[in-house]
Amino acid sequence: MDNFFSEDSLDFENRIVDSSYTPADSETELSLRPKLLTDYVGQEKAKENLKIAIDAAKIRGESLDHVLLYGPPGLGKTTLSGIIAAEMGVNIRTTSGPAIEKQGDLAALLTNLADGDVLFIDEIHRLSRQVEEILYPAMEDFALDLIVGKGPSARSIRIPLAHFTLIGATTRAGQLTTPLRDRFGLLLKLELYTHAELAKIVLRSAEILGVKIDGEGADEIASRSRGTPRIANRLLKRVRDYATVKGDGKIDGKTAKEALSKMEIDELGLDNIDRRMMEAIIKFYDGGPVGLETLAATIGEEAVTIEDVYEPYLMQIGYLSRTPRGRCVTRLAYEHLGIPYKPKETPTDNTQTTMF
Ligand code: ADP
Repeated sequence: MDNFFSEDSLDFENRIVDSSYTPADSETELSLRPKLLTDYVGQEKAKENLKIAIDAAKIRGESLDHVLLYGPPGLGKTTLSGIIAAEMGVNIRTTSGPAIEKQGDLAALLTNLADGDVLFIDEIHRLSRQVEEILYPAMEDFALDLIVGKGPSARSIRIPLAHFTLIGATTRAGQLTTPLRDRFGLLLKLELYTHAELAKIVLRSAEILGVKIDGEGADEIASRSRGTPRIANRLLKRVRDYATVKGDGKIDGKTAKEALSKMEIDELGLDNIDRRMMEAIIKFYDGGPVGLETLAATIGEEAVTIEDVYEPYLMQIGYLSRTPRGRCVTRLAYEHLGIPYKPKETPTDNTQTTMF
């Protein structure tokens, strides 16, 4: 049964190692979400800052400062917002930037919040300017400024709001307007996870799902998860299916390796799309630099997806660099792909630049 995993490995829509949320994740994502800060693996720096802020707010008996969570998809922003609400002992309302179309939509959400409640806005960088303007006085003064009436009789009224906490999540902090960013008291950057942290997450998820797995099996999955818990959980489920059909359902190092290589995910978690992107940079642009838009057109993928989903991991493992003149692949990528490396006359900058 060689095509156990039957999807086309160049199928962008169903890419297994895509860190963005897909409907297929929904079945287990809820049950796998840690509910308390102590169950939330890794992100020690963010957790420490958050813990201090939560403890201080509790001691003062106030609502928590507004929090901005930023980092690539699948790293635990939504999960963390739920944990914050649970730790504060308050209710959480969840929405997203594109879902709030009109000022009235946001006004309705805000007026329904009680003191201390959390309003979570995912993809907050996608709020329209008009809607965003409602947020400024809401965040700063806990008030809604509404215009009632039209023409000469129009007047502005101010409605007081409860002292709520806004938690914004974004994959791109750089796209937030300065007035919005400045109104967050706590800015927490989520980092890609280490192998050890991902292995811990895999073991925890396996226990919840009732899957038998040993340390080696967990390590195998962790090392191919591109630093992302969402991918780790997704791979665990796929390997579980493979182990059920091909063996006794137990995942050890060998089964995990077999299953993952059938999915054409290599030891580093790279799939055919990553390989194709790096090969395109080498083949058509002599290793780079190549502009993001040009690269996107070459491989037939959206520029934002390349930036948010593919690049963070490739940059973290040192295969790709962002330079002022465009994207470049590094010597490591040539070696990984088995293509002889020719140093350039003018060496490109191989250092990693910031993600945002
Ligand atoms: P984001 O909002 O950043 O896209 P999510 O919060 O939806 O990511 O996380 C995706 C999945 O990954 C969740 O279902 C959760 O099970 C898992 N996860 C994320 N972060 C952690 C963590 N620190 N520890 C354990 N599981 C995690």
